[in-house]
Amino acid sequence: MKLEEEAKKYMQDKLTIAEVMTADFYEMKAGQTAIFPEHKALEYLALGLTSEAGEVAGKVKKLIRDGEDVEGFELKKIAIASEIGDVLWYCAMMAKEVGVSLDEIMKENLKKLHGRKVRGTLHGSGDNR
Ligand SMILES: [Mg+2]
Repeated sequence: MKLEEEAKKYMQDKLTIAEVMTADFYEMKAGQTAIFPEHKALEYLALGLTSEAGEVAGKVKKLIRDGEDVEGFELKKIAIASEIGDVLWYCAMMAKEVGVSLDEIMKENLKKLHGRKVRGTLHGSGDNR
């Protein structure tokens, strides 16, 4: 590796996540940790996404079971946030797999929801309202 390339790589690695975090940056960095069989990518990712969403639900369920003492609640919220991060990882990898950036999905989702708000259709059901 040439010195210039090494310096560039060093600087990329030096960037702290907080300095540069965007949906696209997250997607790119998350992709560096992806290990799964390519021929079953969508299935693998869908199962992972629902599994992690289940972990979020499980942690929330335990709040109900164990009560919500203030100190314990704060720790449990951190654990829930961590599981939300796992859900995000799978969302980012699914976005990549279907060829639409996470950033674009976020924009389109907000557009859809704001359209529903304007049309007064936030309540109700159906994908196209
Ligand atoms: Mg998890």
